[in-house]
Parts: sequence; C-alpha cells; structure tokens
Amino acid sequence: MSGYTAPRIFVRGVYFDNVTLEEASERLRTSVREGRRETVFTPNSEIVQACIDEPALYGVINAASLVIPDGIGVVKAARILGTPLKGKVAGVDLGRCVLDFSAQDGVPVYLLGGKPGVAETAAERLCGEYAGLNVVGTRDGYFAKTGAETDEVVRAVNESGAQVLFVCLGAPAQEKWIVENRDRMPSVRVFLGLGGSLDVYAGTVKRAPKLFIRLGLEWFYRLLKEPRRIGRMMRLPKFYFGTWIYKLTKK
Ligand code: UDP
Repeated sequence: MSGYTAPRIFVRGVYFDNVTLEEASERLRTSVREGRRETVFTPNSEIVQACIDEPALYGVINAASLVIPDGIGVVKAARILGTPLKGKVAGVDLGRCVLDFSAQDGVPVYLLGGKPGVAETAAERLCGEYAGLNVVGTRDGYFAKTGAETDEVVRAVNESGAQVLFVCLGAPAQEKWIVENRDRMPSVRVFLGLGGSLDVYAGTVKRAPKLFIRLGLEWFYRLLKEPRRIGRMMRLPKFYFGTWIYKLTKK
C-alpha cells in the first residue's frame, strides 16, 4: 500500500492521526494522484468537548479519513493521557499546503464557505500567490444545509469538476455537511473542513502574531479579537480539567 499512514491516537473519543503538517500534506497529495478519497477534519478541543457533550457528534468527526489536531488543547490532552501527538497542525496551514500541490499538479479546487464575496476574494488572492492554481468555483456558505439549496451547491461542485473541495462553514456544521453529502460528489478526492480559513486567505481575518502561535496562545488572540467566542471557549477549561479527571479516574 502506498501513501502515508500513521498510528491514530485516541483523545477523549476522537481518533487523531499522529502526523506532521508535511506528512499530512504528502498523504493527501498521494491520495489525489492515486484516486483515493479523503475527508479531512481539523478538530480543536472545543469540538472534542462538543462530542463529549453531544455524543452523536463522534460518529460525524470519526467518519473522516484524516483527523488532525488543530489546537494546543488537544496536544496537551494527548500528553496528559500518556499518548503524545507530534504537535498541533493548523488546518489553515494544511489548506495552504493543499493549494500549493494542487497548483503544481493541476488539481482543480472549489472554495465553499464564508460570507458573500469572501470565497471570491480568497480565490483572487490565492491565484496571485500560487502560480497555476485552478479555482473552478466559489460559493458563499450561507445556504440551507439540507434540501434544495444544498442540492444546488452539490450540483455546482459536480459541474465544476473539482477534485479538492474546501468546506468552510464553521464547526460542526461543515463536518456534518461533508459526511451527509460526500457520496453525491464522486469527482471530489479531498474534502477539507476548514472553519474560518477562507477569511484568513481573503485577508478579512488575521491570524495571531507568530509569538502567540509559538507560545500556544493563538486561542487567546482569537478571544481578544472576537469576544463573542467566549461562550464556546468556556469548553476549553472544561475539556482540560475533564481530561485530568478522565485520566485519574479511568480504570
Ligand atoms: N459560515 C458559513 N456559513 C454559515 C455559518 C458560518 O459559511 O452558515 C462561515 C463564517 O462566515 C466563517 C466560518 O464559517 O467564515 C466559521 O468560522 P469560525 O472561525 O467560526 O470557524 P470555526 O472555529 O467554527 O471552525
């Protein structure tokens, strides 16, 4: 068998692939070349805690073929549980690696998600950055996630001939949408659930300064910039302390 496969690490019910950014990207590149289908999710600890709170979500998140830890909380939890991961792999960075090899290999890409205009702006900027990038379609993410509007989006993706589909609708809506609809988009080889990445590529949202990223404080920067996230971020301490309790009490 070719392609990179890494052991999976179990963190509070979610199976993470223990890969670096380069390994994840190489595996996806090989899969596209060899015609294998991949579904990539990038949960952070908020999403793992959401699974703990609403167990039906496990079935959705664990239905991916590649799950990368996009959060320092998940990396810390894996360490606490005695099964360390190689490190955080930011979904927004993996998205860039996929764009890079898609441009080099002539793989058609579709960008779905964000407010009206964001995907188009992202496409323009990305085409300027990655020579040869072939963006075959864009669409904002404000459509009904089931029924006729979703059918129309699926049709547009199919007609575009995209082989890589960025789905940036926020978590866990994007993960549910991918799992519910991926079988209807047979030409797509890589589905990526990438949250707010199109906003970053379009330049409407800035990533944290490098120092914050290096210190593992990207979450804190996001909280400063988007205080409305405080409610969902309360899942972070719940997840962290819950992981200690889980470790100390499990048989
Ligand atoms: N979004 C969307 N459709 C929706 C709701 C949200 O396309 O119905 C987009 C939103 O514009 C933003 C992204 O989804 O670009 C969510 O970003 P966020 O930073 O909240 O990502 P998360 O952390 O939830 O993955």
